[in-house]
Amino acid sequence: MEMTFQPILDQPNKRPIVIAGPCSAETEEQVLQTARDLAKQNIDLFRSGIWKPRTRPGSFEGIGVPGLKWLKRVKEETGLKVTTEVAKTDHVFEALKHGIDVLWIGARTTVNPFSVQEVADAIKGVDIPVLIKNPINPDLSLWIGAIERIYKAGITRIGVIHRGFAYHGETKYRNVPFWQFPIELKRRFPDLTIICDNSHICGRRDILFDVAQKAFDLDFDGIMTEVHPDPDKAWSDAAQQITPDQFKELFGRLVRRNPTTDNIEFLETLEHLRNEIDEIDDEILSLLGKRMELADSIGRYKKRNNIAILQPSRWNEILERGIAKGAIKGLSEEFMEIYLKAIHQESINHQEAVMSSKEEGAI
Ligand code: PEP
Ligand code: MN
Repeated sequence: MEMTFQPILDQPNKRPIVIAGPCSAETEEQVLQTARDLAKQNIDLFRSGIWKPRTRPGSFEGIGVPGLKWLKRVKEETGLKVTTEVAKTDHVFEALKHGIDVLWIGARTTVNPFSVQEVADAIKGVDIPVLIKNPINPDLSLWIGAIERIYKAGITRIGVIHRGFAYHGETKYRNVPFWQFPIELKRRFPDLTIICDNSHICGRRDILFDVAQKAFDLDFDGIMTEVHPDPDKAWSDAAQQITPDQFKELFGRLVRRNPTTDNIEFLETLEHLRNEIDEIDDEILSLLGKRMELADSIGRYKKRNNIAILQPSRWNEILERGIAKGAIKGLSEEFMEIYLKAIHQESINHQEAVMSSKEEGAI
């Protein structure tokens, strides 16, 4: 689907876009205190969850409609624009009624096309920016599907928020970032605003800076960070929230990269290096082509001798040898595994094609 997007804020192309505020609105004082402190830092958008989608019932599920009145006060007192999460028709209606400036769709909503459609139907005909978090699971189509549903409701001020993906293995993150997805979104939709939610990626305070810096290095348009006056006592997501002062310190340390430059010498050097990379990519492709021709020959040979395609001992040997050689070249084990598995799978596909063809086995 062809889509063109508008900037999510009134100042077009403002970067970085800074979104900060508590995970949840808890009390009027907590909301206003945080907003006053953040207003002094000139943030662009004040966030606060009003309805909280919690994994299990019984945890704090959000303050509900009374909290919207506090956000209204934030706007009146500080002039900050405000944003909150919506997941259902009545959330949208109440948020609009209370003058919420930007809506966001949470990760647990993006996974469900019924819910996203319900939100889309509720905002149809309203001119309001909408931010769409990635779904819980790493499914790029599902994320794009949510963007399309909101776009079809007539919303063009759309942004996406990368908040990482649920992962079952051991990891230092609460939700593992998968930077290839936002990079791919930027490639397909260059005018789509892309924000990094470092709080929900990290789930802890000590790596918030590194993840935000990584997002800036990858040319994200902004960050969303959870800020609370007394993080340890927060009613939700206590481990990842930071104080307004800590946020100021974190933001002050972030290095912003320029998306581009008009310095001729720089551009010429870059062009030269990119040409070299293109040549190397061509060489790699031509070698891969040759490798697959060999796989075809092996396939024909195995067919003639009626031997199974998959030879586990051979595959182990390729993997171990490749990882060891990769390490010498400074290539990580993680990369080598992905790379070798992809090549191996393609070889198997080639051999299978040969095996199942009518052609007689011959080298
Ligand atoms: C949140 O922003 O507080 C939230 C619930 O986030 P997510 O949807 O990313 O889990
Ligand atoms: Mn949260």
